[in-house]
Amino acid sequence: MNKNMLYRSIPKVDVLLENESIREMIELYSRDAVMEAIHMELDRLRGFIAGCEEEEKAKEQILLLVPHVVQTVEGMHTPNMKKVINGTGTVLHTNLGRAPISRKHMEKAFNIVTGYSNLEYNLEKGKRGERYSHFEELLCKITGAEAAMAVNNNASSVLLILSSLAKGGEVIVSRGELIEIGGKFRIPDVMEQSGASLVEVGTTNKTHYSDYEDNITEETRALLKVHTSNYRIVGFTESVTIDELVPLAKKMDIPVVEDLGSGVLIDLSKYGLSYEPTVQESIAKGADVVCFSGDKLFGGPQAGIIIGKKKYIDMMKKNQLTRALRIDKFTAATLELVLQEYLSEEKAIENIPVLRMITEPLDEVARRARSLARAIRATGIPAKVDVLSCESQIGGGSLPLERIPSMAVAVNPEDIRVPELEERMRYLPVPIIPRTVNDTIMLDVRTIESDDFKLIAAEMQELFGLEK
Ligand SMILES: *Cc1c(COP(=O)(O)O)cnc(C)c1O
Repeated sequence: MNKNMLYRSIPKVDVLLENESIREMIELYSRDAVMEAIHMELDRLRGFIAGCEEEEKAKEQILLLVPHVVQTVEGMHTPNMKKVINGTGTVLHTNLGRAPISRKHMEKAFNIVTGYSNLEYNLEKGKRGERYSHFEELLCKITGAEAAMAVNNNASSVLLILSSLAKGGEVIVSRGELIEIGGKFRIPDVMEQSGASLVEVGTTNKTHYSDYEDNITEETRALLKVHTSNYRIVGFTESVTIDELVPLAKKMDIPVVEDLGSGVLIDLSKYGLSYEPTVQESIAKGADVVCFSGDKLFGGPQAGIIIGKKKYIDMMKKNQLTRALRIDKFTAATLELVLQEYLSEEKAIENIPVLRMITEPLDEVARRARSLARAIRATGIPAKVDVLSCESQIGGGSLPLERIPSMAVAVNPEDIRVPELEERMRYLPVPIIPRTVNDTIMLDVRTIESDDFKLIAAEMQELFGLEK
């Protein structure tokens, strides 16, 4: 085999630039990007020929040069971050972006963030305003708090609260509440960053009122309660509630801070879920500062929402750290839109995707599952497609023991193995992330929007190579 001949038959750059598909790419993207792709593909091709022992294969690759350049240019312009279908049934899936934002809210926010906005401009006074002003009143109205603000996420809330109230002093927290919240973030470590020192009291399973009382000193700046979001201690346990801590803190003239984690604003037990203490209750019981995540059960954008007594919130707004932790215009706009839904519980359940998903009645999920199964069967893919019962979970460290009865479309391929199908599904243009149970691909319909059914069926068809 004559490699020199092969190298010589590779089209030159100026010839490639005359090719119609390549010219289209230049038109669509840029000459710079196309030149980069051409050089990459030429290097790759020369490398291939150097290591190739079969002339036919080398010739084939030379013929594929133009399509490869086109693919590379397109790849350079395809965002790596993309929409995926969540078939796992985990509603708050941290790896899949936690709470989805509704299209309706996004469209409203679109108008605000694509141009200029009054983010920090007071239109009535014609001068500088505050970025929290857009949602502070709403948050106070809904939760009963005196003042409110928001930072980047709830880990930031904890950091900012402790830095503002307890830097250089001590904070008392129960050993039963020293949690790791995932991604290796541990409450005690976050606290340490704030400059406050942690005074751990009680034991893992039992903490008494006297444990707090006995450890209050001149140096104590706050009592902290942390919701044990992602785990539960059951059996021989005891913890001190907010109602008990409030009078003690008042007597000692220090604040009680509660990190609620998920931040539930409606009574979920009405919808068949376990009872979770709400944000409003925490405020009503006298907590001085309460914080929670924006993108857990609250169902909004990533944020750390901090509410409570004005005196303390003002200290946080003045803290230099706030500048480093402040939310951007997208978050401020979306927070206000989501909060407005909470003015009516009915609207909140209807219009906030996370709440709609966890409260969707089983017979409705079942009806939708049958509809998705029909759509997939209609493509004629070589697989057995059934509707099966399953259980969804909330995830995101919220209600860890809760299982919500749900319905899934189960796909059992005839000619390929389940792990291979699962992998191919991840490589689709809109990847489908299923749950694999007992060697079956399950698509839990609770976390899938009906609007995506057509897309899923078309993609499954494409995946089995049955394009019409
Ligand atoms: C999830 C959680 C956090 C962290 O919230 P992020 O918004 O993920 O930063 C902090 N505290 C508790 C109790 C949590 O459950």
